[in-house]
Amino acid sequence: ATFDFTGKRAVVTGAGKGIGHDLVLALHACGAHVHAVSRTRADLDALRAELAEAGDARLTTFAADLGNAEEVRAALEAAGDIDLLVNNAAVALNGPLLEMSVESWDATMAVNLRACFVATQVAGKSMRDRGVKGSIVNVSSQASLVATPEHAAYCASKAGLDMLTKMSALELGPYGIRCNAVNPTVVLTAMGRANWSDPAKAGRMLSKIPLGRFAEVDDVVRPILFLLSGECGMVTGSLLPIEGGFTST
Ligand code: NDP
Repeated sequence: ATFDFTGKRAVVTGAGKGIGHDLVLALHACGAHVHAVSRTRADLDALRAELAEAGDARLTTFAADLGNAEEVRAALEAAGDIDLLVNNAAVALNGPLLEMSVESWDATMAVNLRACFVATQVAGKSMRDRGVKGSIVNVSSQASLVATPEHAAYCASKAGLDMLTKMSALELGPYGIRCNAVNPTVVLTAMGRANWSDPAKAGRMLSKIPLGRFAEVDDVVRPILFLLSGECGMVTGSLLPIEGGFTST
């Protein structure tokens, strides 16, 4: 752990699995109190069990469906005084644009975009009212920058999240609050590994990544820690690609 978040309270959404799960462990290892929000209670209980071994757990959990704006608000308000926020939860409901249902579109926007807006409001007000120069990181995707087959709602939601990031930087900047996004390529979470195990599919994507590999979870977690930290106090409104050069080609 090279970053020091001692005394800081960090909220991580989508903390149950994948990037969010590992981010909670990393923030905790850096001294933060983490408020972990996710949908499945069992995942949050598992996280608590993992951290219990570390003694002082510095962990609170909140099970919520972030597709519901009121639940987002309740989950964030339960965190108390927020210093750091990572909007990480998202869903990928994919299919051909011409066949996608309005329900899938709406569900995608509710979790991937609206929840980030509501969470930013609650966290931003908490920071502003306490005079805290906090930091927010939105977990976007390379799919916000490059159209990806059968990901219409997902790509549109992440493009919206990129602009929410810039708007947050614009309107919260006067309070010293920074907001940035990370835009990863395929990340080899458990699900990522399963989805990209077909060599034909993986090969096509890998051929467009100059570094020739997909991202490991840690490749995403560490830049998020960096953006949350005071090490980049002049960085706000930025979209940080974590894609091995994919969007440069
Ligand atoms: P996972 O699917 O592994 O984990 C997502 C987490 O978010 C789960 O804990 C899930 O809980 C939670 N979540 C999803 N919907 C809701 C909801 N409605 N309410 C509360 N919690 C919810 O995702 P990743 O770790 O792969 O992705 C994390 C972020 O990284 C996302 O924003 C994703 O778009 C982005 N990303 C991922 C890439 C990848 O290849 N993996 C590539 C680029 C970006 P539950 O399982 O209980 O629903």
